[in-house]
Amino acid sequence: MISFEQALDAVRQRARLQPALPMAVDAALGHVVAEAIIAPESLPGFDNAAMDGFALSAAHLALPPGTSIPLQGVQAAGDGRSTLGAAACRIMTGARVPDGTATVVPVEDASVHQSPDGTQSLVLNTPAGEGMHIRRAGEDVRAGSCVLSAGTRLLPQHRMLFAALGISQVSVHASVTVAVLCTGAELVDAAAPLVDGHIRNSNGPYLCAALPAMGAAIALYRSVPDSAAAYVDAVREAERAGCRIIISTGAVSMGVHDFVPEALRVLGAETVFHKMQMRPGKPNLFAVLPSGALLFGLPGNPMSCAVGARFFVQAALRHMQGLPPEPPLRAVLQAPLRKKPGWTLIQKAWLAATMEAQLQVQVLDGQESFRIHPFAQANAWAVLPESEAELAAGTLLDCYPLQPFPEWPCAPTSA
Ligand code: AMP
Ligand code: MG
Repeated sequence: MISFEQALDAVRQRARLQPALPMAVDAALGHVVAEAIIAPESLPGFDNAAMDGFALSAAHLALPPGTSIPLQGVQAAGDGRSTLGAAACRIMTGARVPDGTATVVPVEDASVHQSPDGTQSLVLNTPAGEGMHIRRAGEDVRAGSCVLSAGTRLLPQHRMLFAALGISQVSVHASVTVAVLCTGAELVDAAAPLVDGHIRNSNGPYLCAALPAMGAAIALYRSVPDSAAAYVDAVREAERAGCRIIISTGAVSMGVHDFVPEALRVLGAETVFHKMQMRPGKPNLFAVLPSGALLFGLPGNPMSCAVGARFFVQAALRHMQGLPPEPPLRAVLQAPLRKKPGWTLIQKAWLAATMEAQLQVQVLDGQESFRIHPFAQANAWAVLPESEAELAAGTLLDCYPLQPFPEWPCAPTSA
């Protein structure tokens, strides 16, 4: 049997990068950028005032403190180019600074005096420094610079940047079309009455809830009767629907109705692995169909299914969208643990940061693969390494949040 790590490597090796598509930015949210994004404009586009106040020229700065400066005119946000004359002018936040502006003095740092003839003048409370309270053109983004590298998943903060820069279309990797097929004669859907011996389908709704955040577009969701022939038909339907990943749940263990391996032979699929040194999820199966679509045969036990989706399906989805392997969060184990060596255990866990900014992990009670309630109380999976038998408190463990974090594959660069 292969190890957890070998299984992950095998998935990444078989996953193929999705094609890049031009897409309108709103539709592109959640997709991964396929090409570096270059700023078409500078941001700010022009020198503008950072405060409501007064625009002063260099000549005004040279005057001795306490001198009255003539004040004339208003430059508001939205006003076009203007030129500062002999007088200072009122200016509003975001307004283009008039040509000849040496500095902006905030309203609170000056007083305005009105003469009987209606003219106004300004007296500074403190001497004004040159170049203050002006947001310079290109200070945030220079036209022609790279604002986002390929391999970034688009999130609302990127939408703000694109809007500010007038970017309306980007090149992204196509999301991955996925089918979810649930096997099991015992399954009923949430709304249906329960008959004796039946259970509600919980894996299917979980997968439909979890996969979109990983970049999957679910195109087909089916309950499939417990037969190889019905399974073959459902897989063919998924392929016709253009699915590049087909996920089934159940029927990969040792029972008489565990027909997935047989159905894969009928389909002419290459089974890359079936069973691994991992719990929960030992019977996880991964195959490649003749069309190149990937097939994940997740076990029926809810935690085995959840682990298979979180680790193997997500590894494929990341690779197909041009994302690097997910880095683990390293957390300090809070209480000692014993385990059977030779098995990687993926445990429901609670991750929390201490006041001293240390990430700690608590492995929760109720690790059995049928137990859903502790999963609903967890926020992460903790990986207990295959070789270990005893893990002392204080051991660093690789942990993965139940919901993958949005990725930032390259550390943000400072300007
Ligand atoms: P199987 O892998 O088909 O042998 O199923 C293993 C266990 O998981 C059995 O107890 C099934 O009843 C249960 N199971 C299978 N599919 C689902 C599902 N979609 N939702 C909840 N439990 C399931
Ligand atoms: Mg079954």
